[in-house]
Amino acid sequence: MTDKELQLLVEKISLSYFAKKFNHKAYFNNRLKTTGGRYHIQSHNIDINPKILEEHSYQTLLGVVKHELCHYHLHLAGYSGKHNTVAFKQMLNAVGGSRYAPAPKNKNVLKYVCSNCGQIYLRKRRINTNRYVCSKCHGKLIKRG
Ligand SMILES: [Zn+2]
Ligand SMILES: [Zn+2]
Repeated sequence: MTDKELQLLVEKISLSYFAKKFNHKAYFNNRLKTTGGRYHIQSHNIDINPKILEEHSYQTLLGVVKHELCHYHLHLAGYSGKHNTVAFKQMLNAVGGSRYAPAPKNKNVLKYVCSNCGQIYLRKRRINTNRYVCSKCHGKLIKRG
């Protein structure tokens, strides 16, 4: 999906779910790391993490777009638009937005499983399974994803 397509999608969702126009810019931002999307209070633009589509689904993207549009419309209507406000929660519920933008998966975490007892080990770095064994039972570790 291109920035242009995202822009059209946000405009469409804005009209059909909020009955209001989205008059600013929506674009993908590769630099977003910990969040699926962001609404900018200064510029009123919305940026979306492209990983949402790559790692999740179109449905997830719709939920994130609705979430950011709640911030957008509440803020422009003079509300704070913060997550913990009644106005935000009500609007989010009404349009079926996602409560939290799903964080992109952390590709750096490696998973190892003990072939003997099933103990799971999460490691940031690759480990040499010929040298390192399960600390519980000394079974052989197998890499899983
Ligand atoms: Zn938010
Ligand atoms: Zn074990």
